[in-house]
Amino acid sequence: MTDSPTLRTLAVFCGSNSGASPAYGDAARTLGREMTSRGTTLVYGGGDVGLMGIVADTVMAGQGKVIGVLPEVLVKREVAHHGITDLILVDTMHERKQRMYEMADAIVALPGGIGTLDELFETFTWNQLGVHFKPLGLLDVDGYWDPLVDMLDRMVDRGFLHAETRAMLAVDADPVRLLDRLASARPVSVEKWLDRAHLA
Ligand code: AMP
Repeated sequence: MTDSPTLRTLAVFCGSNSGASPAYGDAARTLGREMTSRGTTLVYGGGDVGLMGIVADTVMAGQGKVIGVLPEVLVKREVAHHGITDLILVDTMHERKQRMYEMADAIVALPGGIGTLDELFETFTWNQLGVHFKPLGLLDVDGYWDPLVDMLDRMVDRGFLHAETRAMLAVDADPVRLLDRLASARPVSVEKWLDRAHLA
């Protein structure tokens, strides 16, 4: 065990594909190993495919705990991971996301596609509106997230996103540092509407 700050449960959103470079799988394994060394439980989408399967397998191999949340419809398509600690089956994609968020002390997105972005931005939106506060991190691998980070900075520059809200998303290429940052993050309350903030 390291003496890093505590993070009991981490939700990981990531590709159901492995990506075009072995660097993505390597990053998923490094994150998984860091989680087991901290005793951090993994909550994720419950699949055995792509980076999702790699993170889950790594945490299981390190004697860690893995909770998957999967809608029935995906079980029928045979992507469920049956070798994890607990597989929770739910009725809808929405219910699945809500269950993952509820269980998570913090959230990390590894490289992924549309599903990963959907989950990341839904949690980010809920933070922005104060529905919940979950420390959010992007684990960057070979600059994968650079265009997305640029887009968020552009939203701030062009007056569509509060700088403090933007700062709720930590971006780091080093999983150890990223988990430390998430574990020490404190809730922030930000007025969502920039036009109203200057009136307050
Ligand atoms: P994507 O980034 O489009 O590959 O989607 C990955 C994200 O969406 C994961 O974090 C999952 O929660 C969810 N997801 C997408 N496809 C699957 C699948 N085949 N099995 C389980 N979860 C999936």
